[in-house]
Amino acid sequence: MDKQSNSTADGAALSGFARLDAEPFPIFEPGWVWLVGAGPGAPGLMSLLCYHALQSSDVVVYDALVNPGILKWVRPGTELEYAGKRGGKPSAQQRDISVRLIELAQAGKRVLRLKGGDPFMFGRGGEECQHLVKAKIPFRIVPGITAGIGGLAYAGLPATHRDTNHSVIFLTGHDASGKMPANVNWQAVATATPVIVMYMAVKNLDEIAEALIAGGRAKDDAVTIISNATLPQQAVAHTRLGEVREFLSHTELATPAIVVLGPIADWRAVFDWYQGALRENPVG
Ligand code: SAH
Repeated sequence: MDKQSNSTADGAALSGFARLDAEPFPIFEPGWVWLVGAGPGAPGLMSLLCYHALQSSDVVVYDALVNPGILKWVRPGTELEYAGKRGGKPSAQQRDISVRLIELAQAGKRVLRLKGGDPFMFGRGGEECQHLVKAKIPFRIVPGITAGIGGLAYAGLPATHRDTNHSVIFLTGHDASGKMPANVNWQAVATATPVIVMYMAVKNLDEIAEALIAGGRAKDDAVTIISNATLPQQAVAHTRLGEVREFLSHTELATPAIVVLGPIADWRAVFDWYQGALRENPVG
């Protein structure tokens, strides 16, 4: 390691985040877009490259799911632009976001496109890349911890465990129009793996549960719903697949929420570590 990177010009030792700033991270060049995953919520779960990007960008274009606690790590003077989608016309807005990224990059800015979780996991990162490629804008992808893995861990659910499941399916509970996705083979999904992790599934959960049961999934299969995962207000609810409709009729679920189907729910009784004083720490 370069010795100088651990000390200031006058030789004083650096430590903590000051030391990070002296590390040889990739240079964020003007005119580039970095598509960065901020992780599921808790600021402590962002990557070092995410931190570096926050420290060296000119403008941050961020989504609704990015915790404000993460935005406070930007350099003073960095512009912050909200690009969250609110119901309605997602595709039109998505195009607007890509156009805006291109515009900012062409103006010579270092553009940080910050997304919740991982940018390529149900995050429309691929669509934004397509636009950037077309416009010949250079870009970098920085993966993030996705809610469907990190969120589970904060509720004491291992996404895989040799005693319960050797495979996982990740799926989205709604398509571009907000409906249950028609191009998912629900019958195949129902019996393919012991564990199914569902993003954006709360709205259509009753329909999804019916489709899975019709596809052969057991009615008594465990459903775990993790709201605001990794945040101090994280809440975890439990039901059974065959009881979803009834459960939803008397429960107001906070969103964002990840829905987990399958026996990894049982590990929660043993592994639920995110309790009491631990969860009062806003960084994670
Ligand atoms: N790219 C993101 C997912 C975006 S889709 C990722 O990799 O995590 C948005 C969905 O992600 C939400 O509807 C919800 O299902 C899930 N999600 C994101 N953050 C979450 C959180 N903190 N707690 C629970 N679910 C979350």
